[in-house]
Amino acid sequence: MKKLSKKDYKVLGAPTGPLRAEVVVIGSGPGGAITAALLAEAGQDVLLIEEGQYLELESCEAFSLDEMVQKYRNGGITPALGPASVAYVEGKCVGGGSEINSGLYHRTPLKIRERWQKEFNVEGLDDSDINQHFEACEKDVDVSLLPGKAPKASLKLHNGALKRGWKSMEVPRWYKYAKGAKLPTDGKRKSMTRTYIPRFLKSGGTMLPETRIMRLKRHTKGWRVTGTHKNGAHVEIEADVVFSCGGAIQTPALLLRSGINYNIGQSLQLHPTVKVTARFSDVINQPGMGVPVHQVKEFSPDLSFGCSISSLPYLELAMTDHPWHMREVEENWPRMGIYYGMITTNTVGTIRTVPFFKDALVRYKLNKADMRLLSDGMRKLCEMLFETGAQALFPSVRGMEPIWTPENLSRIPAMLPFGKTNLMTIHLFSSCPMGEHIGRTATNSFGKVRTQKDLYISDASLICTAPGVNPQGSVMAYARRNALKFLGKL
Ligand SMILES: Cc1cc2nc3c(=O)[nH]c(=O)nc-3n(C[C@H](O)[C@H](O)[C@H](O)COP(=O)(O)OP(=O)(O)OC[C@H]3O[C@@H](n4cnc5c(N)ncnc54)[C@H](O)[C@@H]3O)c2cc1C
Repeated sequence: MKKLSKKDYKVLGAPTGPLRAEVVVIGSGPGGAITAALLAEAGQDVLLIEEGQYLELESCEAFSLDEMVQKYRNGGITPALGPASVAYVEGKCVGGGSEINSGLYHRTPLKIRERWQKEFNVEGLDDSDINQHFEACEKDVDVSLLPGKAPKASLKLHNGALKRGWKSMEVPRWYKYAKGAKLPTDGKRKSMTRTYIPRFLKSGGTMLPETRIMRLKRHTKGWRVTGTHKNGAHVEIEADVVFSCGGAIQTPALLLRSGINYNIGQSLQLHPTVKVTARFSDVINQPGMGVPVHQVKEFSPDLSFGCSISSLPYLELAMTDHPWHMREVEENWPRMGIYYGMITTNTVGTIRTVPFFKDALVRYKLNKADMRLLSDGMRKLCEMLFETGAQALFPSVRGMEPIWTPENLSRIPAMLPFGKTNLMTIHLFSSCPMGEHIGRTATNSFGKVRTQKDLYISDASLICTAPGVNPQGSVMAYARRNALKFLGKL
């Protein structure tokens, strides 16, 4: 196949008339980018459509306010409504979430895959079937461990866990380290715009950024895909086959808008997360300190702990639950870090479309058992942080006093309050589960939408239940597996 040079890349502006492609892929996150690249490399005529802009990974500083404006949906966070609302975050740019995330990599744990086999009858999840896809993706995005020492804020949590006798690990990231690298920052972060998107374009694929697809309509020979370009132009494309890869909220929203609803958008899962901001006596934070990489997995999959990005804007955001102590950030930020406790629950949410509203209505109803588990998580997190020298802890619960000593831990109620706990998540999935269990799934085991011809899903929506680990490794492996199945190569 003839490879194109960068000047030949086909990246379209606003179309002036109808378009046509054999395959249309909607959404260019990990699911869409991998699907589009593998299909284009196999010689298919593929049009990849993305609502957000096509920007270099380094078009702005990582984890900055500029990045939120450029690359996040709604400039930051959107609430999932419920007794305790959960703020969720989605990427909206070429490359999707991969452009803004920390790159922490896990395979889907065996226990979780076994559960999906048992409860959803998913085929092709045995080690002998799926490991080849994990391995190939790990190679493609350079999954690696740090060459040098982890950031101090990350080591704090690690040491706190070890002191309590709890299992803590360094999680590898998709990051290409320079040969002989000594520092965690000696290298290049990977993302879809650095890996599969160039592969897609080099293989002759066409990309249409800044275009939101609104509807799919079946006609005799295939699909009519319609949407709007950012400049207001109406976009219409004829396609033989469509892959919806808009992520766990936008894929069900698109299908529901198109009247496709069998097991779509009724089983959203996420990892509800609470945060605690800690102040230590020693310096643990500095500009560009790198991404914290340790996670405490002693109580996994129910509870996991880690350290979040703790740059100044993030610290300011984290301290909004403690307005009387805002000056802490100004005065002490080099000694401060943000830590999280994340739970895995069976609670499910729903996605609904509302006529005339651009965004879908997302509901997620946490129950009392979830709030108790979150409380347990917050307490364990605080214990680790005190163990490793924290002097003050600021939990993400409105109106709760800071915790100055281990004795103050009794301030954490046995069940976190529904209306006052500031919950968030960056992990969304399970809104269109895959498998052969007809009553529970939206697609077959390889993403083919059950009630439709020539329509596939390949993104985080397919993940049957909350995996208890960072999900992009799973999204990538299933997207690769599904693309090869579609091409008849499995
Ligand atoms: C801040 C943050 C940090 C994270 N950190 C990690 C981490 O360290 N490790 C990890 O494993 N995971 C992490 N994640 C999660 C990970 O990024 C996601 O699981 C992954 O990106 C999901 O891939 P996807 O292909 O399903 O969807 P997405 O990445 O969400 O991509 C979907 C794309 O489709 C586009 N789109 C949607 N609807 C339409 C439409 N109608 N028309 C056109 N385009 C559309 C969107 O704009 C978006 O770009 C993080 C997520 C966030 C937000």
